[in-house]
Amino acid sequence: MPRSVVLGAGAVGVATAFHLQRLGHDVTVIDRQPGAALETSFGNGAVIHASEVEPWSQPGMPLKILKWLGREDAPMLLRPSALPHMWRWGVGFLRNCTEARFHANARANLRLALYSLASLQEIRRALAIEYDCATKGVIKIYRDPAALEAGRRNSTMLAGHGLTFAVLSRDECVAREPALADTAASLCGALYYERDEVGDCHKFVQGLAAHVAARGGRFLYGATVRNLALSGGRVAAVETTAGPVECDNVVAAMGSFTPALLRPLGIDLPIYPVKGVSVTVPAAPWNDAPSHAIIDDGRMFGLIRIGDRLRAAGSAEIAGHDATPSPARAAAIVAKVVETFPGFARCHRPETALVWAGLRPVTPSGVGYMGPTRCANLYVNAGHGHLGWTMSCGAGRLVADIVAGRQPAIDLAGFPSLVA
Ligand SMILES: Cc1cc2nc3c(=O)[nH]c(=O)nc-3n(C[C@H](O)[C@H](O)[C@H](O)COP(=O)(O)OP(=O)(O)OC[C@H]3O[C@@H](n4cnc5c(N)ncnc54)[C@H](O)[C@@H]3O)c2cc1C
Repeated sequence: MPRSVVLGAGAVGVATAFHLQRLGHDVTVIDRQPGAALETSFGNGAVIHASEVEPWSQPGMPLKILKWLGREDAPMLLRPSALPHMWRWGVGFLRNCTEARFHANARANLRLALYSLASLQEIRRALAIEYDCATKGVIKIYRDPAALEAGRRNSTMLAGHGLTFAVLSRDECVAREPALADTAASLCGALYYERDEVGDCHKFVQGLAAHVAARGGRFLYGATVRNLALSGGRVAAVETTAGPVECDNVVAAMGSFTPALLRPLGIDLPIYPVKGVSVTVPAAPWNDAPSHAIIDDGRMFGLIRIGDRLRAAGSAEIAGHDATPSPARAAAIVAKVVETFPGFARCHRPETALVWAGLRPVTPSGVGYMGPTRCANLYVNAGHGHLGWTMSCGAGRLVADIVAGRQPAIDLAGFPSLVA
């Protein structure tokens, strides 16, 4: 039985371990945290969204980032202190902001997102994981007709590749989601993505990890990976704070921390952390809270019902690897949510709200790395950015197939590679 070691017990690592085990591998998952999904996969926006596959590297974005410089409440904030460490990543980001690259990258992401959605649904049917799943879709609301038209154009471009969506008038928005009544007067319409889903990523990953463990998979928690010991051009063992772990294959799925592990091997993996924030509160005090996930395009937040909780999520801060939530940015999100949904103020009590931040592992193209490296038995599954929960089940399955020497189920043309 091949011994496969997965580094990182986030959504991506655990899904990879699950699929490797299904293919008959003996799996060990190593993570520095005391359990699964305790870093970026913990408090994310919870949406499985094929509708948000457009990368952040897109035409017009560099100008917007410049305009937002120094504004503490900006949707995307580049801190000058980060610049010296990310200039190569930044050049790659700029290169991907052309119309042609943007469309190609969005199409690659959509292919993976749809495959991943099917993969998640398959796991859901097979295992009874309780993760506050909801399948009502996502409503993305607009106030600016030009922005609505741009969103409609992008979705139409992707509709040719499998995305389904509908344009809603203001009245149709309220008919579908009565909680939008308070803000309807300011809206010019919405895009509705019926197939998008919602679910608590942390709960799902914990459930999936328990399933893998019950079938003999090992989880080495509280162990920090220090480096990879090579022998004859292959990884012979993973060196950790809990001692060495011998292996036949290694999959590095440590999110934003993957590049630092590969750098000493001469492997340059362009992933940079982009910090986001979420604020989670009990939904109960607001009787008529939205039942659909709402994305507010202009104010750039998502408000998502996860079981009996509401989560406001958003913000993109380029500021290095520190995942401490910034109180100012959390407050800015809450203020924007209350502007759109005054009812949210009834649920939000600073003393009970769970304020969290995570580091999205973002590549210059906005498309993740899945597959081999120049080191024969070392693979990566990282860099799925703002879509890591969406992509996890599909990316895990693809990388497991590659490790096992099987043909991946989708065409990987258009995805970045470390061996090209
Ligand atoms: C505010 C916010 C909202 C988001 N909303 C959504 C959304 O709605 N939908 C969506 O699809 N995605 C969303 N995302 C993105 C998604 O959360 C991430 O892409 C995803 O969680 C990344 O998963 P991962 O497994 O790659 O990384 P992680 O979850 O970060 O897992 C990496 C693991 O590696 C471990 N690790 C790192 N270094 C070491 C080391 N040296 N030794 C041992 N262990 C190590 C960490 O402990 C961690 O458990 C959001 C992100 C944020 C921040």
